[in-house]
Amino acid sequence: AKTAGRNQFQFYVASVDQEIRDRKKLEKDLQMALVAGQFHLVYQPQINLETRRVIGAEALLRWEHPEHGLVPPDQFIPLAEISGSIVDIGLWVLDQACAQAAEWTRAGMPIRIAVNLSAVQLQQADIVETILSTLKRHAIPPGRLELEVTETGFMENLDSAIEKLTRLRSEGINIAVDDFGTGYSSLTYIKRLPLQHLKIDKQFVHDLLVNEEDTRIANTIIDLGKSLNLDVIAEGVETEEQEFYLHNRGCQLAQGYFFSKPLKPADFAVFVADFHQR
Ligand code: C2E
Ligand code: CA
Ligand code: CA
Ligand code: CA
Repeated sequence: AKTAGRNQFQFYVASVDQEIRDRKKLEKDLQMALVAGQFHLVYQPQINLETRRVIGAEALLRWEHPEHGLVPPDQFIPLAEISGSIVDIGLWVLDQACAQAAEWTRAGMPIRIAVNLSAVQLQQADIVETILSTLKRHAIPPGRLELEVTETGFMENLDSAIEKLTRLRSEGINIAVDDFGTGYSSLTYIKRLPLQHLKIDKQFVHDLLVNEEDTRIANTIIDLGKSLNLDVIAEGVETEEQEFYLHNRGCQLAQGYFFSKPLKPADFAVFVADFHQR
């Protein structure tokens, strides 16, 4: 038994070692990915439950790794944040999303584009100017852009984050709190931020109507939105029951697999045409 235990221990060390090597390799590959053109964006429709119209698209980043195939963002975005490469990647995302918005405008589909903004990006001193100049370059009106920021994103340096978001808002850009309720939620910052939207994280939507606590949390976020005059977007809506419940409970906006998974631009346009026919 003792030898077996020792072997297991060695095996464990070896696998941790391997994991660190894999991570280092992934980090290195990530440095190259932007220049190598391995990123693309997919867009998930955001639906107004009342009017049944597609009102927006969340841009979501995809990395096509030459050996590993599609690497999920949850695996590489944290790495990109640690190494700082998220700053350049994030700029690329914003630029791509604005180019797409311009194209959709020309095609007669002037929807809003939601872009995820990392805490690291928000900490950049020139982030406001960078965002404004990107909009200008693509001739996108600021009201067509929504920035999704997480609670952890602005808690790091609250005063500076509030100052930047306020400037962005004064230009007409929309601000949403992403993953609301999963971070260090505090009602004091909510009051101080120039917000338009709260996003209910998919973890609360997933077990809606099954788990009583999750249902109550979703209800609370919807009510909070109402009392602060913020529209609430439910993320991760997968079933008709969830949609029905949220709509009746007063949640105006939703996105999720029930409507559509994130789509390539061409498929997105087809989805919108179809959805509006229904
Ligand atoms: P998020 O911003 O909370 O995005 C929602 C995630 O839920 C997306 O995962 C989306 O594909 C997924 N999702 C949408 N509908 C459903 C559904 O009905 N059921 C389930 N189970 N999942 C659904 P994705 O694309 O893998 O992105 C994961 C996270 O990576 C995002 O979470 C966001 O935090 C981050 N991310 C993605 N793209 C970017 C980006 O361009 N910049 C930054 N900073 N972060 C990004
Ligand atoms: Ca998001
Ligand atoms: Ca989320
Ligand atoms: Ca997130």
